[in-house]
Amino acid sequence: MIYADNAATTKMNKISIDAMTDCIKNFWGNPSSLYYFGQIAKEKLNFSRKIIANCIGAISEEIYFTSGGSESDNQAIISAAKIGAKKNKKHIISTKFEHHAVLHTLKKLEREGFEIELLDVHENGIIFPEQIKNSIREDTCLVTIMFANNEIGTVQPIEEIGKICRENKIIFHTDAVQAAGHLKIDVKNQNIDMLSISAHKFHGPKGTGVLYVRKGIPLTNLIEGGAQEKNKRAGTENLPAIFAMAMALKDACENLEKNNEKIYFLREKIIDGLEKIPHSILNGDRKNRLPGNINFCFEGIEGESLLLLLDDKKICASSGSACTSGSLELSHVLLAIGRPHEIAHGSLRLSIDENISENDAEYIIKSVGEVVEYLRNISPLWKDKIFGKKEFFLK
Ligand SMILES: *Cc1c(COP(=O)(O)O)cnc(C)c1O
Repeated sequence: MIYADNAATTKMNKISIDAMTDCIKNFWGNPSSLYYFGQIAKEKLNFSRKIIANCIGAISEEIYFTSGGSESDNQAIISAAKIGAKKNKKHIISTKFEHHAVLHTLKKLEREGFEIELLDVHENGIIFPEQIKNSIREDTCLVTIMFANNEIGTVQPIEEIGKICRENKIIFHTDAVQAAGHLKIDVKNQNIDMLSISAHKFHGPKGTGVLYVRKGIPLTNLIEGGAQEKNKRAGTENLPAIFAMAMALKDACENLEKNNEKIYFLREKIIDGLEKIPHSILNGDRKNRLPGNINFCFEGIEGESLLLLLDDKKICASSGSACTSGSLELSHVLLAIGRPHEIAHGSLRLSIDENISENDAEYIIKSVGEVVEYLRNISPLWKDKIFGKKEFFLK
């Protein structure tokens, strides 16, 4: 099996499994308890917080543990909206290609009277800082823009966007779930006020994440109860997962350059290979993209069939986002960058990590080529195009 769907989730690595196992066995106490088992658990918790803070240029006090990327996005956005509403500022700027954890939270706020402005995305999948500048108003309370897109992998000019927000005293949140452990993050230099992280996107466990909140910005609770996380997120801490996340992030950050060099080389190889398939197009900017992301549209292909046939060839990939596959809904990301419906149907996302080999990359290129050709050959619509009865969209 070749696993090429790391943007959906990653396999836990040895470091995080060992950390998790160690905690389950030896640090099972409740960190809120005053006796020995509680205190050693609390120490591990504080240690994990410090490690994570160090990885992103923050301080321990600014790190809140959550159940993952979705919860972090929800809490960040709801908190900023609440702060805005107090000053009668109810305008929020975001983009059309955010993750649903952001988009659906914004929809909820819209129903509560907030004005949500979703920026158009340029065909290359990059938001221009000028777009933010032009959209900021007196009553803007939040700008939320993802660090890197989970489908097309494009990396946004976060530092510049953050600078504009800082100059205008507007809270800037970024969903960095795809970036953490894969790209350099420094919340101070990059002018980030709030940032979401999820452990299972960098070989850590599922169901755990981080919300970084710059010191001084008040949070709103999504979950009420005990006094954990400075009263801002109730519930006994999932210490095994938190410690495993800290170890996974530290490892990913320490090996970031080495891993990326390898991943980048193989990504370029796969992109070069797939570009040779006629009537295909790479989605997202070729340069400003996550090291492991490859996303193509193949004209005349149905994404689901492509995935099933690749599965037969022992390749795990994705079409659109994991949340939309299984239903016939088109990717909102591909529509946002202007792909026509017919083209958006035939998308393929491969997200590779450091565990794939050059042989695997060659096998992927060969297999995708074969499957695309096979599917086109059995399509009546494709015959119409070949015989000139219908136009091609892509050259
Ligand atoms: C995976 C992902 C999320 C959701 O994170 P969970 O931990 O699965 O809730 C949010 N945003 C982006 C960009 C993601 O890729």
